[in-house]
Amino acid sequence: MTIENVVNAISKAKNIAIIGHIMPDGDAIGSCLALYYSIKRLSKKASLYCTDKVPQILNFLKDVDRFKNEIEPNTSYDLTIAVDCSDINRLGSFKELFLNSPLTIAIDHHSSNTGFADINLVDTNAAATGEIVYGLIEKLSLEIDTDTAKALYTAISTDTGHFSFSNTSTETFTIAADLSRHGLDLEYISRRLYRVKSIERIKLLSRALNSLTMYANNKIAMLTITQRDMLETKAMPSDTENIINYAKEIEGVVLAILIKEINDTSVKISLRTSEELDASELASYFDGGGHKRAAGASINKPLKAVKGILIDKAMSLIKELD
Ligand code: 5GP
Ligand code: MN
Repeated sequence: MTIENVVNAISKAKNIAIIGHIMPDGDAIGSCLALYYSIKRLSKKASLYCTDKVPQILNFLKDVDRFKNEIEPNTSYDLTIAVDCSDINRLGSFKELFLNSPLTIAIDHHSSNTGFADINLVDTNAAATGEIVYGLIEKLSLEIDTDTAKALYTAISTDTGHFSFSNTSTETFTIAADLSRHGLDLEYISRRLYRVKSIERIKLLSRALNSLTMYANNKIAMLTITQRDMLETKAMPSDTENIINYAKEIEGVVLAILIKEINDTSVKISLRTSEELDASELASYFDGGGHKRAAGASINKPLKAVKGILIDKAMSLIKELD
């Protein structure tokens, strides 16, 4: 079984690189940290890598400053683990490190996972990669300490919309209940994750909501965030997270779209769907991916051009539903 292969590979390794995906979220950072603590407890060396900065909202987690965005000099790894990455491009600038590693593992839960590693521990039924890491720690016969529990709880909480999205399962609650037994201050974690917001984030939200445009008899809701919005509100890239949920929460909306302008020639899109519409399928038209209900893509085209193409494609998919 794959999980035994992963346990074997970790047991044999001496120095392990752990890589989270570009523009990391709570699941990527929390799962990477939990894996890092576990590997350290097995008395092995490990490094944490991520191309982009850890979102400020996760700064309450210990050791987030251990994530490096450049390869440590004079270090070689006998095992490299990709965490929460559906395809190899999600590794960003660490793709080469991964490809050059003698042995690779991917731990992931995306339905669009391409099976790009030597060993692919992929469970699309897991609500978060954190759930898979929890199972792996059990298999490694390690006790869960408070820091590991905090990291995993954060991973699972953020990927399930605080235990409310359709991916939340009985297993999710069972794992969360066990994690809560390890000295977690659940009120504090929820407050830091969901209730404390920077003024920049609120200013950006206000601008994004102003851009709301409805299509297809109010079944599609689109929000846009321009470079100017980011500049003038002084918001950080991670401040765009969750803004799409406001579009998704409008009654009757089956497809919510957020287009974020990265520069004059490229954008990042986020998609959220309900009912029969497959977000990951729509994202795949733009070489992106994700899950049935939440997906995204990076597109090398100007904002205006993407708007047109995306709306056309979305409208045709909506028509198929009718
Ligand atoms: P978000 O819209 O929050 O950035 O991402 C939603 C989901 O889609 C996440 O599970 C994320 O992994 C996936 N996703 C977002 N952008 C991309 C992308 O450019 N490529 C792929 N393969 N998946 C993406
Ligand atoms: Mn995830």
